[in-house]
Amino acid sequence: MTVPPPEASSSARRAPRDSYDVAVVGGGIAGMGAALAAAKRGESVVLFERTPKARGASVRNFGMIWPVGQPAGRARSLALRSRAIWKELAQAGDFDCTPCGSLFAAYREDEAAVMREFLSGSAAEGLDAEWLSPEETLKRSPRANPEGLIGGLFSAAECGVHPPSAIAGVRAALEQQYGVTFREGTPVVAVDSGRVTIAGGETIAAQRIIVAGGAEAASLFPAEHAAEAMVKCKLQMLETAPLEGGGEAGAEPFGPHLAGGLTLRHYKSFAACPSQPALAARVAAEAPELDRFGVHVMAAETPWGSLILGDSHEYGDDVSPFDSAEIDALILRELRPMLSLPSWEIARRWHGVYLKHPTELFLAKPVAEGVTLFNGFGGNGMTLALGAAETLFEPPAVASTTGDEPTDEIPIPSVAPRSDAPRSESMTSAPQTALTGFPR
Ligand SMILES: Cc1cc2nc3c(=O)[nH]c(=O)nc-3n(C[C@H](O)[C@H](O)[C@H](O)COP(=O)(O)OP(=O)(O)OC[C@H]3O[C@@H](n4cnc5c(N)ncnc54)[C@H](O)[C@@H]3O)c2cc1C
Repeated sequence: MTVPPPEASSSARRAPRDSYDVAVVGGGIAGMGAALAAAKRGESVVLFERTPKARGASVRNFGMIWPVGQPAGRARSLALRSRAIWKELAQAGDFDCTPCGSLFAAYREDEAAVMREFLSGSAAEGLDAEWLSPEETLKRSPRANPEGLIGGLFSAAECGVHPPSAIAGVRAALEQQYGVTFREGTPVVAVDSGRVTIAGGETIAAQRIIVAGGAEAASLFPAEHAAEAMVKCKLQMLETAPLEGGGEAGAEPFGPHLAGGLTLRHYKSFAACPSQPALAARVAAEAPELDRFGVHVMAAETPWGSLILGDSHEYGDDVSPFDSAEIDALILRELRPMLSLPSWEIARRWHGVYLKHPTELFLAKPVAEGVTLFNGFGGNGMTLALGAAETLFEPPAVASTTGDEPTDEIPIPSVAPRSDAPRSESMTSAPQTALTGFPR
């Protein structure tokens, strides 16, 4: 059995300076994506993370890099670009980014209808996706439950990472290969044009500042955040005990990310399928509790043979900080007909919170000269943020926060590394002026 890898060490830590080209607030995937994009342009970069290690949504998710959930067009292109950057980072940061693909298993005719419609038009553009018979589905995933299986939609485009390991690996790559300075355990208490102030009062100068504070970002620029009407969402998650070596599936690899019919209601990439509204209406009538807690179910493999299971969606600022046993039971109730597991022993439970923009794929909002809020990815930050971060540094005519479709999910209810770091042949410096050209 594979043992969970240690989190990255901080051995390459650089002495902090008092001035950088770019300062980033937030050490989740959005902040690290911004740091990477700037460092590739030859900028000196400092990243502030208020906790000793990133502990936000970026380490609490499934680790699905999930182009199939993004509508064809700009959103999917950003997802595919992010996937390419993940692959580069996995090499540089020595962590796994597995090209596992994704499988939607169909157990009802209306689910199969939506999947076939998805495949028949342009919705599956860029994915290398196909319809599978029940036998082919089971060959792709020994964890799919054969009982009542009608078939499956397989997409080859998706990759999987183990979030805590991957975030630690990205951090290591940024520090060691791209010369980014990390200041962890360092809350930023104020941001002004050209200047970041940290707890204790020290100020650090930076020409460009990216504020990527995730769900708790609103303590900086509260009015500007409020104007965007972004919504917090709490998601409950579970992880099984390691499954290797037991039951029918034996030591077979889990294979692709698994999802089912409920997920077809959740992602906007399926919204244009003619049968999707009827499927959503059927679920709403049969099991209204699923809509009440925003439950749709998915499963992702970890490197040590356990499955990360989820999830629920509770929106707003007044969601309970405590986890609900009822929600966990609903998630497991919906997964049982879809998965054939040797054991349903649950080893861990947790929740994560993200911030979702109501209409855009993400927020890239200038709030002062040289200061940009970068946030609001909703359930898609692992899929979109690395590609999106590059657009922060593009000229205004090119940069955009919107996809061809306004958002990815069903609407919410109610370069050159630093000169002191190893240089890669494929990276080039960009002119300094590019830093002032960000989306408006
Ligand atoms: C349960 C769950 C499952 C998900 N599954 C997936 C998935 O499979 N695929 C996918 O694409 N997306 C998924 N997502 C969404 C994805 O995880 C998020 O969109 C993404 O992680 C958001 O990244 P972030 O950097 O904006 O926020 P975070 O990861 O929350 O990072 C923000 C960081 O900023 C720091 N910070 C905040 N304020 C300050 C300050 N003042 N000073 C210093 N530091 C500060 C915080 O401490 C935090 O570490 C999931 C999310 C959840 C919660």
